[in-house]
Amino acid sequence: MAEFEDAFLLQEELLLTRDYAAAVIEAVPPFLVLDQRLRVQTANEAFCKCFKISMEEILNRKIYELGNGQWNIPQLHALIEGVLSRNKSFKDFEVTHEFKGVGKRTLLLSGRQVDHIDRILLLIQDITERRAEQAGIRTSEVRYRRLFEAARDGILILDPETGKITDANPFMSELLGYSRKELLGKELWQIGLLKDEKASQCAFRQLRRKRFIRYEDLPLQTKTGQRHEVEFVSNLYQENGHEVIQCNIRDITTRKKTEQALHESEERYRTLFNSIDEGFCVIEMLYDKSNKAVDYRFLEVNRSFQKQTGLRHAAGKRIRELVPAQEEYWFETYGGVALTGIPVRFVHEARAMKRWFDVYAFRLGGPESRKVAILFTNITERRAAEAALLEAKNNIARHSLELELVVDERTRALQATIGELEAFSYSVSHDMRAPLRSMQSYAQFLVEEYAGKLDEKATDYLQQIMRSGNRLDRLIQDVLSYTRILHSKAPMQPVNLDRLVRDIIETIPNGQPIKAEVIILTPLPDVSGNEALLAQCVSNLLSNGVKFVRPGATPHLEISAQTMDDAWIRISFKDDGIGIAAEDHARIFRLFERVHASADYEGTGIGLTIVRKAVERMAARVGFESEPGKGSNFWIELNQAPTQ
Ligand code: ADP
Repeated sequence: MAEFEDAFLLQEELLLTRDYAAAVIEAVPPFLVLDQRLRVQTANEAFCKCFKISMEEILNRKIYELGNGQWNIPQLHALIEGVLSRNKSFKDFEVTHEFKGVGKRTLLLSGRQVDHIDRILLLIQDITERRAEQAGIRTSEVRYRRLFEAARDGILILDPETGKITDANPFMSELLGYSRKELLGKELWQIGLLKDEKASQCAFRQLRRKRFIRYEDLPLQTKTGQRHEVEFVSNLYQENGHEVIQCNIRDITTRKKTEQALHESEERYRTLFNSIDEGFCVIEMLYDKSNKAVDYRFLEVNRSFQKQTGLRHAAGKRIRELVPAQEEYWFETYGGVALTGIPVRFVHEARAMKRWFDVYAFRLGGPESRKVAILFTNITERRAAEAALLEAKNNIARHSLELELVVDERTRALQATIGELEAFSYSVSHDMRAPLRSMQSYAQFLVEEYAGKLDEKATDYLQQIMRSGNRLDRLIQDVLSYTRILHSKAPMQPVNLDRLVRDIIETIPNGQPIKAEVIILTPLPDVSGNEALLAQCVSNLLSNGVKFVRPGATPHLEISAQTMDDAWIRISFKDDGIGIAAEDHARIFRLFERVHASADYEGTGIGLTIVRKAVERMAARVGFESEPGKGSNFWIELNQAPTQ
């Protein structure tokens, strides 16, 4: 009985041990037990589950043949056949392999030769998930590090216990001017971030309480004393069971400056907006279903708007509310600006408003905005004034045209009269010469034929008559040559001045009792002129030169030619006569003007007038220099004759 009991107990115990072993086997990671020919002797449930294979498919099969050869892994060959035969065991060899129906797995293989039973134990640990997790952690670490290194925000990591910096990114050094080394171990107030130790403690208390603090703009001083504005955010969080403080510091100096500039420009815009005399408004175009601009709403109007338009409280209202009859033109124009973005400048009448406007309109924002800004001036009065001015101008133009016609007509009449008078004086002068000549002849006869019969007084009277007759004849001749100069044809041609002057010298007036000395200093060039007119000029100038000398003195005359700066040729007639006083210079070229007493110097006062007229007709120039007692230098300037 006892034996039976013992056997029963033993069996009990055996069963227990087996169950225990079975439980252990199921609890451990997948494993296989192979015989010497690498056939599977045992496999646990974990193996079947893990590699989705049934026990029947495994037992007594060679490991490389399992599940269509999916364990035919080259690395496994090497381990089992190589390593195992030499070393009896291998541990934690990592293998990544694609298993059919299971996918890509990473396994840790451990094997040992179980000596006394000729078996090989192969333990397979699937670490695919663990590896993925590790890889994930590594990636996020790398990412975090990169972010930390490259961030354009300053990042500080602090130890919450001590409040000291344990890490700082490069930008932090850039911002503050302290090297990373200098930053490590410092507290925030020591690097110019918080004002002092007290402020720092206060901030830490707050951080503990809220786990988060944020300062919108914190003044910060760099190592070199530069001031910056920063945004400061600090978080307290857990990292691997420790608390860590991360501070992010963003330099907002530029942003602040931009905001300030924006604010200022907004201010300036407002001031301008309200101070300009022009009307200014921003409108929003309103369209009907077919996308046609049919109305617009005033979004903003400036102070001058009301004065310029006469519309009160326009902001927020539609133009159709304010001016129901506003013409189509305005919607089309502003609608066009909103659509195309092309600004327009125009002057147009708003008939319904009884005003004219000078307008500049441009789109605000992009094509979707539908907003148009309009700068404009009421020019109704200006237009009225312009219209009046235009009418006045037209009137003046009309009058001046009429006046011109009248002047033209009168000038023509006057010229006709002058022509007639000149013709008349010419014919009178001409006709006067015949009776005058007969009077002179008869006086001459009387003197010659009745010389003995007349007493001295009668002879003297007769001679007086003859002298007067001669003077009258010269006057008539001069008047005739003057009128001839005015009306004769005078074509321009090259004139051989040298020959012309020499010919005239030969015939110098013989009225002068003393023979004049005339020298031509330089050869005289050919000039462009009219020979007849030139001959008249030279003759008159020469005869004046020899005439106006002190009584009894021998006249000396020098004739020369000189090329002027502007290439004109000046012909000078220089005498050593009595000269002309400065106050008389202006009048000697006028008709009948004479400076010296006619009793001393005969003449008619026509000679220089003829010279002036002749020079005018040849488009030449005349002038003189003279001083009383020092002689005179009269000159004519002409163009050189073109060389042939
Ligand atoms: P006329 O010689 O017939 O008097 P002109 O018209 O030739 O008239 O000259 C006007 C006046 O200019 C002369 O009366 C004279 O007083 C003055 N005059 C002209 N040429 C000379 C000169 N070479 N020297 C001094 N006076 C001159």
